[in-house]
Amino acid sequence: ALTASALALALTACGQSGTGGSKEEKSAEESTVGIAMPTKSSERWIADGQNMVAEFKKLGYKTDLQYGEDDVDQQVSQIENMITKGVDVLVVAAIDGRALSDVLRQAADQGVKVISYDRLILGSPNVDYYASFDNEKVGVLQATYIIEKLGLKDGAKKGPFTIELFAGSPDDNNTRYFFEGAWKTLKPFIDSKQLVVRSGQTKLEQITTLRWDGGTAQKRMDDLLTKAYGSEGVDAVLSPYDGISIGILSALKSDGYGTAAKPYPVVTGQDAEVASVKSIIAGQQTQTVYKDTRALAKQAVQMADAVLNDKKPEVNDTTTYNNEIKVVPSFLLDPVSVDKTNYQSVLVDSGYIKASDLK
Ligand code: BGC
Repeated sequence: ALTASALALALTACGQSGTGGSKEEKSAEESTVGIAMPTKSSERWIADGQNMVAEFKKLGYKTDLQYGEDDVDQQVSQIENMITKGVDVLVVAAIDGRALSDVLRQAADQGVKVISYDRLILGSPNVDYYASFDNEKVGVLQATYIIEKLGLKDGAKKGPFTIELFAGSPDDNNTRYFFEGAWKTLKPFIDSKQLVVRSGQTKLEQITTLRWDGGTAQKRMDDLLTKAYGSEGVDAVLSPYDGISIGILSALKSDGYGTAAKPYPVVTGQDAEVASVKSIIAGQQTQTVYKDTRALAKQAVQMADAVLNDKKPEVNDTTTYNNEIKVVPSFLLDPVSVDKTNYQSVLVDSGYIKASDLK
């Protein structure tokens, strides 16, 4: 059988359109992909959307790309509209991983398959495939960076150092994976008292940041500095996402950090957003985790193209991601730790960020 891409090419070559029929028999030109993204408030989701639209276009598909602006009801009605308009497959990065069961039942009733994008959709049987990164490894990379930067590696008898912990949005399934990876890496040093969380806030529910909001993180950091630190310094802050890191750094700046006498703590991040890479170059944020969203978009497109052609998508993990109803077959990509020493080779030389954007 022809793949959608081959079919698209063949059809373009003879200047004809397809012959119609049931969902499975439609050509790429006759098929529309519904893409539901969570928000434009972060660069990565803008890029994810654009990259998918471009990749689907290459194969001949039409797309309907919508952003939910971090409003759960808005995302649900966007997906509902897509189904009503007759999209043939859905690619969804959920705002609230548990809010989509009803709308995905409608999708299933219409024979529309669902690819969960980056964030796993929970509690619904109607999630067919998952394209993401190794999310636990993201947390391991962040925490390992802190350990190494503080010189605690290989049983070094150093410290105690102070650390505070931040996690992502409680309604995003990734939050738990990021934190579990970080926590298992930090725990031995907390147990040996080489790392001390002065606020005492180490439980996930104490440290989450609703909707990954930088302002919310800034307020919490202000509060922690006032209540738990006073004139003492904090040596490291585990931050799960660049937008949160920028909020944390604002609080640190207001508290007088960033001088020779009071240097910035080690501050991690995620997504390699331009503002954070600039902050890393300027010696403020210390690290970020790069996830090549171009590669993720390609995986999701590969999955959607396969299901539309009644083929099995390529997956590389069939055990990790249980959405509480079933294990969702996944393709997981590898995240990469980035700091001042490797941003040029990893981010700029790969074309992910333009050198001119970092000026
Ligand atoms: C993504 C991260 C992102 C965060 C906030 C998570 O689900 O995996 O890459 O930083 O959402 O947008």
